[in-house]
Amino acid sequence: MSEKFTVRDFFNRFPTDDACLEHVMEVRYGLRHECSHCGQKASFHKITDRKAYACSRCGDHVYPCAGTVYQDSQTSLQLWFYAIYLFVTTRHDVSGKELQRQLGVTYKTAWRMGQHIRKLMRNAEGFTMLQGHVELDEAYVGGKRSGKRGAWGSGQDRDYGPKGT
Ligand SMILES: [Zn+2]
Repeated sequence: MSEKFTVRDFFNRFPTDDACLEHVMEVRYGLRHECSHCGQKASFHKITDRKAYACSRCGDHVYPCAGTVYQDSQTSLQLWFYAIYLFVTTRHDVSGKELQRQLGVTYKTAWRMGQHIRKLMRNAEGFTMLQGHVELDEAYVGGKRSGKRGAWGSGQDRDYGPKGT
């Protein structure tokens, strides 16, 4: 684990929500890609105060978080990223209580985030705990979506949080 991403590395790389959003954009679509609206190879720039990017050619909007857990979340992207970072860099599951403490969110929020992150990790192709950036990148964008639910592993770290999601 010597090459691991330290907390300092994390905050250098993701100092703001916008930096996190840019990462999601880069991994999912690329900051320069063929626009699905005008069909041109175009660069995309962030729209102020929105979680969206606009095509430099036609102005069409792209929402990098669409279809991810971040889409409708009230929790900031940076907190999500940090929570994922904790899961990736910890040898074991991160409990709701631990997330609550580290993130300064309510237990209910922490518990839900933990559930989502476990799901993201199961869906990220080839993802294994304690690996480097490639796996982390997949974790941040959730890999493929899947309808699979439940499966809490051994259950030893199970939290008794609110029912449902
Ligand atoms: Zn366009």
